[in-house]
Amino acid sequence: MIRAFIGLGANIGEPRRQLMAAMDELQGLPKTRVTGHSSFYSTAPLGHVDQPEFLNSVAQIDTGLAPDALLDRLQEIERRHGRERPFTSAPRTLDLDLLLYGEQVIATPKLSVPHPRMHERAFVLQPLLELDGDISVPGKGLAKTLLLACSSQKIARID
Ligand code: AMP
Repeated sequence: MIRAFIGLGANIGEPRRQLMAAMDELQGLPKTRVTGHSSFYSTAPLGHVDQPEFLNSVAQIDTGLAPDALLDRLQEIERRHGRERPFTSAPRTLDLDLLLYGEQVIATPKLSVPHPRMHERAFVLQPLLELDGDISVPGKGLAKTLLLACSSQKIARID
């Protein structure tokens, strides 16, 4: 089994309900157990800023799925939640990112792990640190050090 971390985000529909449903669906994946999840955070949108705030969380799983199989399963869950992608950074009913897969570094046409932007996002690093205060992002350094560089980003823990 490999410990992996999944980033969850939503900003249209009922974000809290969608994130909780997605956690349940992660628990239902083959060869996979959800072993923890962070609080939920309300996050100002990055990129296309004229859209509702996001709700974000991170789930910790132990999985026997290979990384590409796990990504396929995450995309299936996103599709079940009716996600549409009219443009980059568009609002979404559910976004699932494979953040970390053990300490592996993966670079294939469809999958980059660690997730290529996670090290510069407070809404990923802060919840990740709730789950493991000493975690590192391979190739980037300690998550707690990376978070210090994100101090201008507005996120609020909401539970
Ligand atoms: P987005 O939904 O904007 O995060 O982008 C989805 C696209 O990113 C898909 O085509 C994936 O194949 C690709 N991708 C690359 N690396 C990752 C990752 N670590 N987690 C999720 N999607 C990824």
